[in-house]
Amino acid sequence: MSTLLPTSIVGSLPKPSWLAEPETLWSPWKLEGAELDEGRRDALHLAAAEQALAGLDIISDGEQTRQHFVTTFIEHLSGVDFSRRETVRIRNRYDASVPTVSGPVGREHSVFVDDAVALRAQTDRPLKWALPGPMTMIDTLYDAHYGSREQLAREFAGILNQEARELEAAGVDIIQFDEPAFNVFFDDVRDWGVEVLERAAEGLRAETVVHICYGYGIKANTDWKATLGSQWRQYEETFPLLRASSIDTVSLESRGSRVPMELVELLRGKKVMLGAIDVADSRIETPQEVADTLREALAFVDADRLCPSTNCGMAPLARTVAQGKMRALAAGTALLRAELSGD
Ligand SMILES: [Zn+2]
Repeated sequence: MSTLLPTSIVGSLPKPSWLAEPETLWSPWKLEGAELDEGRRDALHLAAAEQALAGLDIISDGEQTRQHFVTTFIEHLSGVDFSRRETVRIRNRYDASVPTVSGPVGREHSVFVDDAVALRAQTDRPLKWALPGPMTMIDTLYDAHYGSREQLAREFAGILNQEARELEAAGVDIIQFDEPAFNVFFDDVRDWGVEVLERAAEGLRAETVVHICYGYGIKANTDWKATLGSQWRQYEETFPLLRASSIDTVSLESRGSRVPMELVELLRGKKVMLGAIDVADSRIETPQEVADTLREALAFVDADRLCPSTNCGMAPLARTVAQGKMRALAAGTALLRAELSGD
């Protein structure tokens, strides 16, 4: 797209309180049946309108129709038994009871395409759609069928590619794969992770993004971050591999994190979606603070390759806070655009 510094959120937004319990991950729905379908669709339209009102250039679904960014996609697949649960350690960080892969995985129908068609009808702005990445998907499951993380990830990559192609056909301009697992399993990322991700994105005309972050601002993640020391250099492992990959854009966390900004240099030539909004802090950034973060990045990424964004999803935040942060993102980006054009 031609807009300089195109803005977007990474993924989720808080859901309205009539649809799900606010400020909670995996919050159960408050509606059922046809009312739930209508409620989710209404929330999708509201989320898009709020992004447009805040002045964002690229519109996302805000994940209003999904309970969780990984689980909801998997729920629609065959071969995964949700009644058979095992406790596994997710991203080497916290234990969770997860469903079991009990047979060959498959996708018999599209998951998000109807939502994408509805959103496409609402706005002329570019649409970005987030899907879970293959490595992050396998990390939320117990595998009793394939016996190989890589093989299961390859199966999911094929399924994700089918979904991405249908989203593209529905008018989605940018497909994003969320791979927080890339910040943990460095050997797997090098050995097969990037290649499998490329398989998920194979043949797409839509722009492709990989989002790698330090997670939502929930306690398990903030406790983990406290152990990472004064400089978070995890991206150093993955960025050179992604720079050499066919993925167009890399989405990373910056504002309020301990990621040294010079690591962005490792992506030179790629588009960089830079998190200028901290999702682990309810304080709303000032436009000046947003501009400061983005300006600092310009030492390592060309202006025409920089895409201002949030650090991660905002689902656990209060709705008014998320709305304020979106406005700050747009206003801070406008400040920097004016500087760059010499106004
Ligand atoms: Zn994230």
